[in-house]
Amino acid sequence: MAGMGDNPFKKCINPTCNLTYKINNNILVCKCGSFLDIIYQKNFSRELIQTFYQRRNHGGNIYNESGVWRFRELINFANLDTEDFEQCSKILVSLDGSEGRQSKPYKMKKVSEYSLIDNDFLLLQPEGYNPSGSFKDNGMSTAVTHAKMINMNKIICASTGNTSASAAMYAANENIKCEVFVPKGEIAPGKLGQAFQFGAQVIEIDGNFDDALAYSLKEAQELGAYTVNSINPFRIEGQKTILYRALEYLDWNPPDWIVYPGGALGNTSSCGKAIMELYDLGWIKKIPRLLVVNAEGANTFYELTNGLFGGKKLEWNIGRPDLSLIKEYYDQKDKKGIKPRTKATAIQIGKPANLIKALRSIDFTNGIVTQVSDKEMSDGMALVGLNGFDCEMASGAVPAGIRKLRKEEIIKKDDVVVGILTGKQKDPRLSIDYHLNQSNRFSKPPVAK
Ligand SMILES: *Cc1c(COP(=O)(O)O)cnc(C)c1O
Repeated sequence: MAGMGDNPFKKCINPTCNLTYKINNNILVCKCGSFLDIIYQKNFSRELIQTFYQRRNHGGNIYNESGVWRFRELINFANLDTEDFEQCSKILVSLDGSEGRQSKPYKMKKVSEYSLIDNDFLLLQPEGYNPSGSFKDNGMSTAVTHAKMINMNKIICASTGNTSASAAMYAANENIKCEVFVPKGEIAPGKLGQAFQFGAQVIEIDGNFDDALAYSLKEAQELGAYTVNSINPFRIEGQKTILYRALEYLDWNPPDWIVYPGGALGNTSSCGKAIMELYDLGWIKKIPRLLVVNAEGANTFYELTNGLFGGKKLEWNIGRPDLSLIKEYYDQKDKKGIKPRTKATAIQIGKPANLIKALRSIDFTNGIVTQVSDKEMSDGMALVGLNGFDCEMASGAVPAGIRKLRKEEIIKKDDVVVGILTGKQKDPRLSIDYHLNQSNRFSKPPVAK
């Protein structure tokens, strides 16, 4: 069998030339102007096919390959009591095992410098590496599993873009109907494009996300359709695996902090629940602290939990949070006509649906809620890019929030921090505009020649 060591070489594709070159130089085109081929030993043994297959090593089972379903015992609401592939495939919804498969923590040197944390202590997990390009696939695979379990043939959601992209993708793959309510003109073109591409019925609302959610919940009730927004507890179950993958990477030793951007607060709720459960099981002895980062222009959770409205801090309070404080807050915003405003449209949410569950998470983990500006989020987004990773502006809130808490010395120098980069860039205009603008801290404007 030809080994790896048998010298490959470069060879001109022009039969009348036939010149060959060594591999180790930067000659990329032949002297004669023709292109070059790379030539290997030809007598590879066919047994290599087995080797390739073994390297993939998932036993042909997409549920073992899936970054969600390989943790299926911990999210077993379907009460599956089998490892049999055929049986599993009758129940579990998966896009060929791809949800969560590639997302795990990475070190990013430039982000850690910016975040004022030692490179070994900061781990960032790009959930943009999901089939529809955001963390939403983690929870959508479980929510659609439940929809199928109870024979629903139409799913429905409101969305700032990524929920609809994910819902539409799974619906298309499972051959069920999908309706998505989106705030007109307020979602990234890449996200809207996916909803159309995957064949969802798009319904544009002349209002913001909070209005779209109200419409979609009403419509779901009228049509008997299945809601896949994060008010759905089965979404929350699937999203627990985001934490599992991070913990697995750390040999199940919890970090000191876990950081998420805060929108509708599904992730905050889900991560808190996952931590509570693992702690109850005795799998973890330490409770990591949650840091939730709001955008300044959509900072309901920040204001309420930090006592910036009505002088009272909103707290879980053993399951009896001050609901009247929340109502007064919303009433006042409505009366003054104050709408959430941020370029990070994924977290442009004024009335986070999971507020109460999120309070429970903050309470259990001794968590903190902070806020960052659009400018800080764009810097965070740009830096992730400068490490060769991709994320959208809402995810940029994560490095920005970590940096802020480091400066406040709340996150300590040798704390281990895991940050979740929630989705990939689907609004390329934001990256282009960032770099076109010389005054941005990390911009690299184009050069004309
Ligand atoms: C949905 C979304 C968020 C907000 O997450 P919540 O769980 O609603 O707080 C943040 N970033 C991206 C990229 C999203 O798609």
